[in-house]
Amino acid sequence: MSLQCPKCGKEGGNRLQRGGVLEHLLSFVYIYPYRCVACWGRFRALRWGTRYVRKQAPRRSHRRFQTHFPVVFSCGQTHGEGVVTNLAMGGCRLKTDVKLTEDTPLELKLQVPGSDIEIRVERATVRSVESFFAGLSFSRLAEAEKKRLRRFLVQLMTSQSKGVTCLQNPF
Ligand SMILES: [Zn+2]
Repeated sequence: MSLQCPKCGKEGGNRLQRGGVLEHLLSFVYIYPYRCVACWGRFRALRWGTRYVRKQAPRRSHRRFQTHFPVVFSCGQTHGEGVVTNLAMGGCRLKTDVKLTEDTPLELKLQVPGSDIEIRVERATVRSVESFFAGLSFSRLAEAEKKRLRRFLVQLMTSQSKGVTCLQNPF
């Protein structure tokens, strides 16, 4: 199936970000927005069977762990709270009632269990938003906070792999 601009008839188009609820719904039936390579017009086209996978945040290669602990965040005057549902050295996923938008920089305070002191992420960036969930990447984190985050992840790793792997310590 070729991709053809309905305005100028030229074949080919570059996929655009979906905008708004309608285009998100349309993508479930394989209709996506495109930009014509010739006239730069925006159009929608059916690409049956095509699924576009969202680009991953750079260097998000670290292993992620399922979690469930509170987080408070702020962006200027906006404050909110949520629950961290998974965590890695490079980022996390959180559930919140606050409507977040992509590329928003946030400051986070991770209220990790088993510690009175929050882990402070100086700057996290919203990479993706799906209903109540937001995927964040950590862009700025002080060395001391990094160490505490690493220690917490190691704890998670050992507790989550209990009974699955042998007693050998990988560290
Ligand atoms: Zn065109």
